[in-house]
Amino acid sequence: MTAMIPYGRQDISEADIQAVVDVLRSDYLTQGPAVPAFEKCIADYCGVQHAIAMNSATSALHVACLALGVGKGDVVWTTPITFVASANCALYCRADIDFVDIDPKTYNMSVERLSEKLAHAKQHGKLPKVVIPVHLCGQPCDMVAIHALGQQYGFKIIEDASHAIGGKYRNEPIGNCRYSDITIFSFHPVKIITTAEGGMAMTQDAQLAKRMQLLRSHGITRDVNEMTHAPDGPWYYQQVDLGYNYRMTDLQAALGLSQMQRLDEFVSKRHVIAKRYDQLLMGLNVSAPWQHPDGYSGLHLYVVRLKLDQIGKTHRQVFEALREAGIGVNLHYIPVHLQPYYAGLGFEAGYCPEAEQYYAEAISLPMYPNLTEAQQDRVIEALRVATSK
Ligand SMILES: *Cc1c(COP(=O)(O)O)cnc(C)c1O
Repeated sequence: MTAMIPYGRQDISEADIQAVVDVLRSDYLTQGPAVPAFEKCIADYCGVQHAIAMNSATSALHVACLALGVGKGDVVWTTPITFVASANCALYCRADIDFVDIDPKTYNMSVERLSEKLAHAKQHGKLPKVVIPVHLCGQPCDMVAIHALGQQYGFKIIEDASHAIGGKYRNEPIGNCRYSDITIFSFHPVKIITTAEGGMAMTQDAQLAKRMQLLRSHGITRDVNEMTHAPDGPWYYQQVDLGYNYRMTDLQAALGLSQMQRLDEFVSKRHVIAKRYDQLLMGLNVSAPWQHPDGYSGLHLYVVRLKLDQIGKTHRQVFEALREAGIGVNLHYIPVHLQPYYAGLGFEAGYCPEAEQYYAEAISLPMYPNLTEAQQDRVIEALRVATSK
């Protein structure tokens, strides 16, 4: 019995290990030089002024919402086809959440649905304060259109780019915040680069950056200019807001910094694998993911949709057959509005029909830089068997 091929897997080199060991032997395990070095590396890579490291993308999304002033009585919109964290961040701030259905081609938030929903919300005086588009699988959303709607209706934009570091939109790096207020990356091990756990918030706005830095560390400042009065002495700091302990450690940052040296290689390997999938899937009863020409995807995930009317099995049966064949397929994602917690807020099945149709057909195939051609052939053969009539 050969081992299960996972859907995603980190790539850790000897240099990565050495970078972490070096920090272990140094004076600082946290709040040392590695975190600012990692932040500078990401900021330079993305061409953005400010990058603020945090202990997860979930924390970064929370702090991003707070920095934009999201609170009770506000409304935040996101896509239902995402990890729950993209929506939970609004609820942490006591705001209301709502969902914009997906585009059936890209599976990202539909600009048509967004546009209609905004016009309707305006009539009812319930416009969102923040919209959170998610670059699903690493494919960038239509940011030019979303940004234009933001200008028209006065909402702020947080790009959840948890899947998308190393990708490009209109030939510029995702994370440069050209069309958003804040962009978020995740460094969970299944994502493009890893720090074990970790996230980053990027912004071009110095005020937003300052607020996010404050909130990631208890709301405490050591900057005299931010204090209510002159320091009592050299020991002095002030808590000027209610923040959190969302800091990244130097161990994590050193790993991230080392991983950054292979980021472009990781993403180009993912593209080679995706291209090979695209070719090998032809003739099978599945739809390969469509790539918008405006984007260079980070290709965090490779999602196929089953043509169920041509397959004599259910979605679940195909999924189970693949797992039984040792293929660690997964499903990204269960529509967030169908989660029991969200049903408890009043969301019902049928609310986002395109997202629900996607959920009924989607399967994520294994996708990570070190997936071998032999493993990929095993995936395709198992899929051929599982999806034939
Ligand atoms: C992974 C992920 C997150 C959360 O990232 P963490 O670093 O695990 O907190 C948020 N949004 C999306 C779209 C994700 O895939």
